[in-house]
Amino acid sequence: MNLRELAPAPESTAILNLRDSYGLYIDGRWVDAHGGSMATISPATEKPIAEIGLANAGDIDLAVKAARKAYDTVWSRMSGSERGKYLFRIARLLQERAREFAVAETVDNGKPIRETRDIDIPLVAAWFFHYAGWADKLDFAGLGTNPRALGVAGQIIPWNFPLLMLAWKVAPALAAGNTVVLKPAETTPLTALMFVDICEQAGLPAGVVNIVPGLGEVAGQALVTHPGVNKIAFTGSTSVGRHIARELAGTDVALTLELGGKGANIVFDDAAIDEAVEGTVNGIFFNQGHVCCAGSRLLVQENVHDEFVEKLKRRVSTLRVGDPLDKNTDVGAINSREQLDRIEAISATGEPEGASRWTLECAVPKAGFWFRPTIFTGVSTSNTIAREEIFGPVLSVLTFRTPQEALDKANNSPYGLSAGVWTQTASRMLTMADGLRAGVVWSNTFNQFDPTSPFGGYKESGFGREGGRHGVTAYLAAGGAR
Ligand code: NAP
Ligand code: MG
Repeated sequence: MNLRELAPAPESTAILNLRDSYGLYIDGRWVDAHGGSMATISPATEKPIAEIGLANAGDIDLAVKAARKAYDTVWSRMSGSERGKYLFRIARLLQERAREFAVAETVDNGKPIRETRDIDIPLVAAWFFHYAGWADKLDFAGLGTNPRALGVAGQIIPWNFPLLMLAWKVAPALAAGNTVVLKPAETTPLTALMFVDICEQAGLPAGVVNIVPGLGEVAGQALVTHPGVNKIAFTGSTSVGRHIARELAGTDVALTLELGGKGANIVFDDAAIDEAVEGTVNGIFFNQGHVCCAGSRLLVQENVHDEFVEKLKRRVSTLRVGDPLDKNTDVGAINSREQLDRIEAISATGEPEGASRWTLECAVPKAGFWFRPTIFTGVSTSNTIAREEIFGPVLSVLTFRTPQEALDKANNSPYGLSAGVWTQTASRMLTMADGLRAGVVWSNTFNQFDPTSPFGGYKESGFGREGGRHGVTAYLAAGGAR
């Protein structure tokens, strides 16, 4: 897919129309939050952007009731083609205001404008277009009638791709006929709140989409345990995912969990080495490594290890770290001080456990949260940096001799979300793809996303799939469509 095709926004729409403060969006209205407020800040400057109201359990109750009412009285009675029209409108409006959203996402999250402009926001529109097309085609169960939606979907998303994670969740839910209560992450609520304007411009009926920023342990917890919710879709850490699964054990609430990862990026000696270097850089330094499917473990065949690592370091030396609003920036700010502390703490175990550390020498701004791209070589599978998800711009390099050893090392992880294989031998590619316990395996590329492809994990990376047909059937009652 040519992503650039999807970002035709006139310059004039790049003006940011932000308010000083935001409440909650419930039942088609802005209302006050009752759980206090906090500023969302720019991680590149530490300056506040806007004051955000935080939902408490009572606010969540109102949002779920509004979603239920909208489901019963409007949304579940609408034909699929009517729902589709709203989704198409939302997709087009997002395209028209793509630059505005790209700037807001970059300011709130810290990721480079080049990424939000060319990847995040175009993909957001692509996701809505894709699921708009599904809305009137869900009668494939065979009876010619719309299959049943689940009802009210509670959706909880992380901070690494804020608006894209909203699109992954909201678009299929609405296409399938559900109504939504969505809680964005506390450090990146801005674009979800701006999305309210899009819903209003599209004329979406009140209560179909409710946006409720708040703290995970308060608003998230209240949403997960609310008896009026029929489905919880969660993307975030494995520890919170585990907690949610425990909370919902024994209930009839449908659950999908998209959790952490420790992706293996496997380079064979017959790979196109320069392309593999590019793909490796994209695999771990894209979005500062705040990517659940990042290729954070590089497995290089032993006989090309030295050449590969040398070329890799040379390429990483050209990366520009700094102001995310500068369109030449490759690596932006770390999303929060808390995340920076976590990256530093896990990285600090590398050398004491026997690995060699290489860090890009570059200046970084004084204010804000920064971590220089880092590569550890001489890593073994038992090292902390090879096992724990760092969720930052840190690559751990391991070696292998045979395809079987590559498979064994790649699968030696509690996670199973993504993997990549670089080889020019087709049969080897197929054997590897078959043997890798990962939800997605990229062939001679890394970190490519498309709304038609299912995405999700094995093992501690969660269960359920988002994207494509799998993504929409996850919002239908069992027996509705398969
Ligand atoms: P997180 O701490 O698990 O938070 C994710 C979301 O859950 C946030 O909105 C958070 O609210 C909320 N939350 C926290 N505690 C909760 C609770 N007790 N009940 C309900 N909700 C709760 O994860 P994160 O640090 O934001 O994101 C990083 C993690 O997400 C990484 O491990 C990454 O791999 C994973 N991730 C996975 C995917 C995927 O598709 N598999 C995609 C992106 C990220 P607060 O913001 O208030 O904490
Ligand atoms: Mg922020």
